[in-house]
Amino acid sequence: MAIARTVSRVVKSQIASDGAGVKLRRSIGSGDISELDPFLLLDNFGTENPDDYIAGFPEHPHRGFETVTYMIAGQMRHKDSTGAEGVLGPGSVQWMTAGRGILHSEMPEQREGEMSGFQLWVNLPAKDKLCTPRYQNIEPEDVPFAKIENGEVRVLAGEVEGLKGLVRGPVTDVSVDPVYIDITLQTGGSYRHSIKPGHTAFVYVFDGSVNVAGTTVGKHHLAILRDGDSVQLSSSEGGRMILVAGRPIGEPVARYGPFVMNTFEEIQQAVEDFQTGNF
Ligand code: FE
Repeated sequence: MAIARTVSRVVKSQIASDGAGVKLRRSIGSGDISELDPFLLLDNFGTENPDDYIAGFPEHPHRGFETVTYMIAGQMRHKDSTGAEGVLGPGSVQWMTAGRGILHSEMPEQREGEMSGFQLWVNLPAKDKLCTPRYQNIEPEDVPFAKIENGEVRVLAGEVEGLKGLVRGPVTDVSVDPVYIDITLQTGGSYRHSIKPGHTAFVYVFDGSVNVAGTTVGKHHLAILRDGDSVQLSSSEGGRMILVAGRPIGEPVARYGPFVMNTFEEIQQAVEDFQTGNF
């Protein structure tokens, strides 16, 4: 039997700062919602003031999970300990599986103008936490669009049933079987998205206002969805949002800054490996 998902909670994102002082809005990863299994963090950075981003994210480590950067506007230069380096421009996606450990930096490649986008942390199950680091760097032109009624969907990961057929995102082989889509609804737009039952799902609105299964969700708000097999979205004034979903992992989470493991001992090991240069 089909069961439409409804909203269990709406949470306003909180102003926070990370890296060397980058101002952003955090809705998962602190305060009310420390995690939403398998998601550990959601940051929305977005500003036209260079003072809010110019310091960037200098070199820092990660172990035990995945970091996903989705650029909406602006340019960031990415560099890491595997020797990979490149510029993330508007519309690009970087799905980085930190696995056993990586050191990286993300610094603005601009001194003025708008910089905006998202950083999502996705947990890894115990069996994959120490895997070899891996990247999926996806250029803007490789992220497909699906046409919907009075709107469009950019499909980063997962599948969208558009008006012209099924559109599949380029991100593959991720342990939690994720959906990550960027939905724009014009005035009067509507879209029903199928979501696997049992998977955690949320909508984050970053422009305008959206009706999520009967609940109005405004700009910079996160709507957490109850279980079900689909969600109905519409907008009378127009709005833009990301919808993210994934299979919960259901394991203990031990977290310390940029390390996310299952036990405190594994965190101690991560700190030791980092300090002794064993990443
Ligand atoms: Fe990072």
